[in-house]
Amino acid sequence: MTSLRPWLAAALVALGASAAAGSDAAAQQPSAESPAAADQRGPIDRANLDTACAPCKDFYQFANGGWVARTPVPAAYPQWGSFNVLADRNNALLRSLLDSAAANKAAPAGSNEQKLGAFYGSCMDSTRIESEGAKPLAPVLKRVAAVKTPADLVTEAARLHAEGVGALFGFFANEDFKNSTQVIAYAYQGGLGLPDRDYYTRTDSGSVALRAKYEEHVARMLELAGTPAAQAQAGARRVVAIETALARASMTRVQQRDPNAIYHKTTLAELKAMTPSMPWDRYLATAGVPSVASLNVAQPEFFKALDSLVKAVPAADWQTYLRWQVVDDAAPSLSSAFVNENFRFNQQLTGAKELLPRWKRCLQATDAALGEALGQLYVEKTFGPEAKRRALEMVRNLEAALQDRLGRLAWMSDTTRKQALGKLAAFQDKIGYPDKWRDYSALTVDARSPYVVNVMRAAQFARAYNLRKIGKPVDRGEWGMTPPTVNAYYNPSKNEIVFPAGILQPPFFDPKADDAVNYGGMGAVIGHEMTHGFDDQGRQFDAQGNLRDWWTPADAEQYKTRATLVANQFDQYVSVDTLKVNGKLTLGENIADLGGLTIAYAALQKALEGKPRPTIDGFTPEQRFFLAWAQIWRNNTRPEYARMLVTVDPHSPGKWRVNGPLGNMPEFAKAFGCKAGDPMVRADKQRAEIW
Ligand SMILES: [Zn+2]
Repeated sequence: MTSLRPWLAAALVALGASAAAGSDAAAQQPSAESPAAADQRGPIDRANLDTACAPCKDFYQFANGGWVARTPVPAAYPQWGSFNVLADRNNALLRSLLDSAAANKAAPAGSNEQKLGAFYGSCMDSTRIESEGAKPLAPVLKRVAAVKTPADLVTEAARLHAEGVGALFGFFANEDFKNSTQVIAYAYQGGLGLPDRDYYTRTDSGSVALRAKYEEHVARMLELAGTPAAQAQAGARRVVAIETALARASMTRVQQRDPNAIYHKTTLAELKAMTPSMPWDRYLATAGVPSVASLNVAQPEFFKALDSLVKAVPAADWQTYLRWQVVDDAAPSLSSAFVNENFRFNQQLTGAKELLPRWKRCLQATDAALGEALGQLYVEKTFGPEAKRRALEMVRNLEAALQDRLGRLAWMSDTTRKQALGKLAAFQDKIGYPDKWRDYSALTVDARSPYVVNVMRAAQFARAYNLRKIGKPVDRGEWGMTPPTVNAYYNPSKNEIVFPAGILQPPFFDPKADDAVNYGGMGAVIGHEMTHGFDDQGRQFDAQGNLRDWWTPADAEQYKTRATLVANQFDQYVSVDTLKVNGKLTLGENIADLGGLTIAYAALQKALEGKPRPTIDGFTPEQRFFLAWAQIWRNNTRPEYARMLVTVDPHSPGKWRVNGPLGNMPEFAKAFGCKAGDPMVRADKQRAEIW
């Protein structure tokens, strides 16, 4: 569950929860047996509505109540909704591609097809995985058991990081926030096994009980890896104590949303002085990073605390901690004893009733390891030049609508407006798949190797690929998501909006649907990503992707006043039980939803100019626009999972992603004839309008 990709949280702003949940248990899982995949008749299906609920009372219920009432969450899933249905369809195709690759014994050695087939095939070979048990981990566990000194510990961390294990802290390459053409090294807080620091610091009875279960889980995993039962209990206690100390020194997710708070350019000499117990030269040499003159130490206080721990905690406890980290990371790739124990604990966080079928787990793992090789096959089957042209056309229409709005925004001075327009004009649009595919020739995947070894090799390859970029110019062609992914993102450092082929399909984008549905779905998603360039985080980066304040003080004040209305609005919404949405954690996403819808609505009006405006299935184009937005966020979520998302997910629950922004939009009230005082109409003095 250790999050290996903290830079996603630091740099990319995704559309949905799938890339943002920070835990393998939390990731939205694909499926092929969807109870909802086949039940959509037409782009807007009346059977999905609850017409007993007035649209002005609770629009989410009106638009989705029928679907919500009849659609259970499949047993292997924490949540089920439009994203899953689409991922499902993608995965049926991906499965057939991987089955063919695995069956093709004639694929040239070293070719992408051979690697895909060998990786997926070794994952599907459950007989062999069972017979091996924990054996393939023996060399790593032996190394970890040899850690005696702080220098050993830090050196071993470099080896484990290369193998994909997120022990102690994170270290990776990323754009320099203040010099966006260059890649620098980031040292980032990390080393936890639970999904967030707050899990270690909360004192409510539920959190205390969960920590007790976590400690039991750590003990069981240590036992499975060969630690005698008597020692495993005590060892687990020490592991939780170490992780709790790391958590206490860690920034909260809300604190990390401030890019200035996680930017501390530090020379290597300064870092060494700050953390005298940590031999950085050895870390860097082992990691294969020859020369790092300076780097971003994202959380200096974390590293100071880590340095004290490195010195103070006995070597035996560090050995246990590393052993746990190795086993926790490898568990999904090992025999059923490990897989089941891992799943059993994760159920506390997801509520899922059963494991995903093996092929779905293997498919996800293959996408993570060889995503651009798999993606290449995927787009050949699904995403031709015509699809790319249509999607690009829509992006351009949305950009034109935002340009128009920026030009007329009453609260913004011309000085700031000029900068904002310049930033919009500099957007880089990426559609479908990369122009240049990643070269996997340096990655060896061997059908005769244990599956977990292939997983580690893939991690090593990805790590080397990432660290090689340090000290080099930024490659603007690179992608942060694989082509089949049902998601999208904005990257402030590259000032780019990115839409993988996986999301450019129904219900988001349907070539057979009317404009209203496509603008309310994909159009609003595009607007959402564009608005991230101007959300409370993104607005702090300039046209070139540099963290630089381009706002007049008066305009910045205006912005903050308006954003505070959004934060306060979402603070009032209940997510699950009595747990409320965190308005500050979800602020950027909520601003992006509101801005995205506003811009997409304007773009739809432009697209409809001079065209007939037929009522379809009883709804006007404007009504269909809002229905389309509502249906992409429909979902059923297990309470356990909803409780975790409140802590870790910067996105609000689907219901509030619908009702929250629409309550601020006069366009919505007009489309459905809602009146002042209706629950879906926010009072003027509370109503947020930013972009
Ligand atoms: Zn977003």
